[in-house]
Parts: sequence; structure tokens; C-alpha cells
Amino acid sequence: MKQPYPNFLQRVLRLRWVLPLAFFGIAVLYQIVFARWVLYTFGNQLHFIVEILFFGTAGPLITFLALTRIIRWLEEKEQVEKLARASERRLVSITSASADAIISLDPSGRIESWNRGAELLFGYSESDMRGRPFTELFGGGEAAEVEFRWLTENIHQVGFLRGHETTCLNAMGNEVTVDLTATHLVDEDGKSLGVSMILRDITERRRREEEIRRLNTNLNEQVAERTRELAEKVEELRLANAELQKLDRMRTEFVSLVSHQLRAPLTNMYGAVEHITANCDTMNTTCSRMVVIMDQQLERLDRLVRDVLNTVRIDSGELVLQSEPISVPPIMAQVVDQMRARTAGRSIYISDKPGLPMVFADRDRVAEVLANLLDNADKYSPPHTEITIETSADDDEVTLSVCDAGPGLPASALERIFDKFYRVDGSDSQTAYGYGLGLYICRCLVEAHGGRIWAENLRGGGAIFSFTLPVAR
Ligand code: ADP
Repeated sequence: MKQPYPNFLQRVLRLRWVLPLAFFGIAVLYQIVFARWVLYTFGNQLHFIVEILFFGTAGPLITFLALTRIIRWLEEKEQVEKLARASERRLVSITSASADAIISLDPSGRIESWNRGAELLFGYSESDMRGRPFTELFGGGEAAEVEFRWLTENIHQVGFLRGHETTCLNAMGNEVTVDLTATHLVDEDGKSLGVSMILRDITERRRREEEIRRLNTNLNEQVAERTRELAEKVEELRLANAELQKLDRMRTEFVSLVSHQLRAPLTNMYGAVEHITANCDTMNTTCSRMVVIMDQQLERLDRLVRDVLNTVRIDSGELVLQSEPISVPPIMAQVVDQMRARTAGRSIYISDKPGLPMVFADRDRVAEVLANLLDNADKYSPPHTEITIETSADDDEVTLSVCDAGPGLPASALERIFDKFYRVDGSDSQTAYGYGLGLYICRCLVEAHGGRIWAENLRGGGAIFSFTLPVAR
């Protein structure tokens, strides 16, 4: 800021000497040079007139110019003082309106000014605090003196102190945590005028930080605890999984062993039944009926063993396909022939489509799927009704469909029918013998070929089971 008083004073003081000297110099110069020249050139009379004119105008003119100059300086001074007053007012209003406490101390550490922010923060009014030692805010005593001494030493050394966190006591005797910024005030000669301080209340911030720190610690402990629990659970699961895998292996081995062991006696019993049928002419009606029943039951048992073995192979990923380009009609003919031999009186019709493309598939597996679907059609539709096999093809796949005139399927069962062990009538009073593995095996075999399988109800009654196989390239 400009300093108007010394400047102005210096200028006027200088003017006090400059003016008379200038006037003296002009008068001497006039007398030595100009007055002589006028006297010798124009004579005494004109010289007298010029003299009156010169001294009559030079004095007032110089006085007028000097006063004009002084007035200009006074105006400048007034202007500068006005700006200084405005700036001072602004500073005062900023200080008093500040939410932070702004305090000034004299060189002995006593409070000189105390703004509104300080009143709000500490609960003391300005009149209460003016002239009191600042250390009282630190609670007084030896500790407060030591801290204040440390503060002032630092401020005097560096000129300021920033971000010093400390605790003060308010009028109620409660602790207030503040962030203290202080500046050393000095005059032009470097003499200490005291210290100005800004104290910001950070009690709430500290409390929140403390809370967050506490929560973080809790959280870390909880995370550590959960991680430990998780690690234990993972270990338990790993052990359980290993145990399960062992059990599953044992189950598979057991089922496979039992099924294989069953096959040999089954084959022998088949042979025995065949032998009795072919060679025993003298059987009565009851015995003949019993032999037929034995043959049927053997076939069921054989089918069950086959299905179980297939399921075990599929579930353990041991299913291996011997795929090659094959023609579908001969397989259909072969399966239908076997079926007809078993089901006397059932009419099975193959709707022949010439030009059916070859498929890339495992011949035995395709026969197995078709036989399964035909078995079901026979099992679940009334005797003497017709079963039809239809085929169709596009560029990518060949579709085979088995249609029957049975009761069809409930809508809710259409999707689930291919699930393992699913049966529409799951009760003990099942009319058709079965165990819900046939369609599951069909789905696995078809999907292993890259095909699809699905069931629909025919509009006039009956079910239609279709599956696709990829066209051989
Ligand atoms: P299973 O015949 O041994 O019970 P499947 O897996 O072959 O097992 O068939 C599952 C179920 O699907 C059968 O229990 C039966 O309810 C139903 N189902 C299968 N084929 C037909 C069909 N052609 N008509 C009506 N229901 C059928």
C-alpha cells in the first residue's frame, strides 16, 4: 500500500526551500542579464516599466503554481487514504464474519483482538478475552506455557506456522481440537508487533476420522476373520469334494461291476429259456405261460443293465462315439425288424423319403436311440395302434421322428421328460414298467453327435419324439 503522509510531507518540505531559492535565482538572473540589457537598449523609463511588470507578475505566478501543485498532492493523498480506509473496512468485515477464530496477540502473548468466529468457537466474548494471556486457552499451567513458548519460537524463527493441531478449552471447559495457523507481525523496522492466529475447529473432523479409523480396523478384523473362515470352508469343501469323488468312483465301479456280473447269468438264463422253448414239447399251458413271462422279465432285466451301464459311461465321460458317414434307412429297417419280432400285432410304418442324405454318426448309438423311442411308443400307446417313423432333411441335418397314437404328454412334462429318472407317472401304480433312464440316455447320445431331441403332442392325440443328426460332409 502507498504511504501518503511521509511522501506528501517530504514534497512540501522540499517545496519550502525550492520556491524561495528559485525566486531568488530568477531575480538575480533578471537583474544581471535581462534588466541591464533593457536599461542599455531602451533607456531608464522602459527599464522601470519592465521591472514593475516582472516583479508584479513573477511573485503571484510562482505562488499560484506552487499552490496548484500542493492542491494536486492533497487530492492524491485524499484518494489514497480513501482506498486505504475501504481496504481496512473490507479486512475488518472479513475478519469479523469469518467462521474461523481470528485472534491477534501483542508481543507479550496477550490477546489484542478477538473476532466473532472466536466467540462462537470458544464461547467467550471479545470484552472477556481482550488483554488476557493466550495460554489460558491452552488451559493454563506449565504445559500450556511450554506449548506456547514452542509456538512463538517457531513463529519468530520462520515468520509463520501452518497446520499445527492442538487442543484448547472452551468456556464450558470442553476440549476443542483446532488447526492453528499463525503469522509473526512486524513493523517497517522489523520490530515485533505480536502474532496473528487463525484457529479452525477440527473437532468434528477428528471425531469422524477417528470413527473411520475404528470402522476400518473393525472391517479389517472382520475381513481377516471371514478370510480365515473362508479358507477353512474351502479346505472343508476340498476334503468333501475329494471324498465325494472317491465315493463317486466307488459307486461307478460298483454299478459297473454289478452290471457286468449280471450280464453273464442273464445270457445263460436267456439260453435256458430258448432251450426250453425249442426242446420241451410236453409243457402244459401254465408252464408255457411261465416261460413267456420269464423271457419278458429277462428282457427287462437285460434292458435295465444296458441302460445303467450306458448311464454310468455317459456320466463318467467314458462314452466314445465311432462316428462315420452312414445311411439312415437301413438302420431304421433293422431296428423295426427287431421290434416287430418282439411285438407281434403292432403295426410299424416307415414313411420312406427317397434321397435322404448320409449322416455322420455312430451306427450302434443311432440304432439304440431309435429302439428306445420305438420301445416307448409301443409301451405307452394302446396295442394294435400304428407307430410311424418319419424322416426329413435340410442342408445341415436329418430329422427322425417316432409318432404314436398314445395319450401324449402333459405340457409341463415336455421339457423334463429327458431328465434322468424323470417319469410322468412317478407313483407306484405305474401302468408301464420303467425307471426314467431311456430318454435321458437318448438325449445324451443325440447331443454327443451334435444333434437335438425333443417331444411334442400330436394334434389328434399321441406323441411325437424327434431327433436330428448332422449331415455327413
Ligand atoms: P421309462 O419309460 O423307463 O419310464 P423313459 O426315459 O423312456 O423312461 O421315459 C420317461 C417318461 O416319459 C416315461 O415314464 C413316460 O411317462 C414318458 N414317455 C416316454 N415316451 C412316451 C410316449 N411315447 N408317450 C407318452 N409318454 C411317454
